[in-house]
Amino acid sequence: MHISERSPLKKNYDIIIIGGAIMGASAAWFLSDNKDFDGSVLVVEKDPSYANSSTMHTNSCMRQQFSTDLNVRISQFAADYVKNLRKFMGGDERVPELTIRNFGYMYFADNEDFADVLRESQRVQLRAGAATQLMSPREIKEKYPFYNVDDIVLGSINLIDEGYWDGTAVFDWWRRQSKERGVEYIANEVVAMTKGKSGTQIESVTLKSGDVISCGQVLNASGPRANRTAAMAGIDVPVEPRKRYSWIFAAEQPLDQDLPLTIDPSGVHVRENGGGTYQCGGHSGIDPAVDYDDFTMDFDIWQDHVWPILATRIPQFEAIKVQTEWAGHYAYNTFDHNAIMGPHSEVSNFYFLNGFSGHGLQQSPAMGRGTAEMLIYGTYKTLDMSPFNYERIPNNKPIIEKAVI
Ligand SMILES: Cc1cc2nc3c(=O)[nH]c(=O)nc-3n(C[C@H](O)[C@H](O)[C@H](O)COP(=O)(O)OP(=O)(O)OC[C@H]3O[C@@H](n4cnc5c(N)ncnc54)[C@H](O)[C@@H]3O)c2cc1C
Repeated sequence: MHISERSPLKKNYDIIIIGGAIMGASAAWFLSDNKDFDGSVLVVEKDPSYANSSTMHTNSCMRQQFSTDLNVRISQFAADYVKNLRKFMGGDERVPELTIRNFGYMYFADNEDFADVLRESQRVQLRAGAATQLMSPREIKEKYPFYNVDDIVLGSINLIDEGYWDGTAVFDWWRRQSKERGVEYIANEVVAMTKGKSGTQIESVTLKSGDVISCGQVLNASGPRANRTAAMAGIDVPVEPRKRYSWIFAAEQPLDQDLPLTIDPSGVHVRENGGGTYQCGGHSGIDPAVDYDDFTMDFDIWQDHVWPILATRIPQFEAIKVQTEWAGHYAYNTFDHNAIMGPHSEVSNFYFLNGFSGHGLQQSPAMGRGTAEMLIYGTYKTLDMSPFNYERIPNNKPIIEKAVI
């Protein structure tokens, strides 16, 4: 699709955000919401339809079941933010009141090693105030009789603040309200950056339209293209596009209760979608990095891999009909699957907001808030996000998050 580029209104901004999907929009909104900040913000988005962004391909669910305390707390803030969206947006009565459809995420372990991971993660989650319950196969079968649990040794589920939420509504309102407060969004693409003589500051970004715009700080919110953007600043960030397939199907005989977002030990996952339909996700076992523009569907994966797994786990799903399918990209952090945020250690006005794989939508409120704090104060004021600093990569200090989907 051809996008006609627009030049920005000014030649100089305090903050330029590269990428205006959920992360860029969150950071822009939290900046616009901060009373200590009255600087100028430009959001450059190469495709304002967002058609190929991760944000448009999402499952739009949140969970409290992570294995690190910080990731649990990030999702707790997401739940608080979503349930109190209007309040967070200054009581604006145009903003809808949202809820979370709490069907929970059901993790299945089919071996003792992974069961131990679930047990250990539950302890972390309970300490942080989450309501995760471990379930034996018998308990699972009693509550969710439709599952085949013959190979399962343990299940883990949490029915509070865990399930579907309307990510699109939050995204729309972040953009709308921040624009009303003076944040400028333009359709254009950042194609180059220029550093000052010392090499430690980005002085300007060059846009596809040819405009050269000088900046105080630059935020990389370019999703799966994070490394391409970082390369313009001479930086390498270990994030690459990985393809993830989604299918929405209707069941001939729908389940008579909500289906939790079920994570089969194979990695295939499926959840309630309402009205007798279900949303399923999976990927190829090989899982290479793909081209930034490669969204071709692999139809064999469904037939040969995903559907047989589904029908084994939930025999009622033998008789189903696919309604829609698509391929999207995870911005996959190959180093440790976690977020990378905050300033670069040498190019100190270049900030990251990258590497969110399959959990960026729910992390977006805390990430936008933390990023705004770091940009304004040079430190985190609410949740300490410093474990996600870029330096952990050259220092080879990964954060191990075991609950990755
Ligand atoms: C199939 C699938 C299911 C998912 N399910 C969930 C889920 O249930 N829950 C959850 O929390 N998360 C989920 N996620 C993850 C979540 O969707 C992402 O982590 C999140 O949307 C990432 O947002 P982003 O803004 O970082 O990236 P993106 O949404 O990809 O946005 C990046 C933007 O940057 C723009 N851009 C790139 N380069 C430039 C440039 N040089 N100049 C200007 N603009 C540029 C792009 O056009 C794009 O709009 C899922 C993801 C996928 C793919």
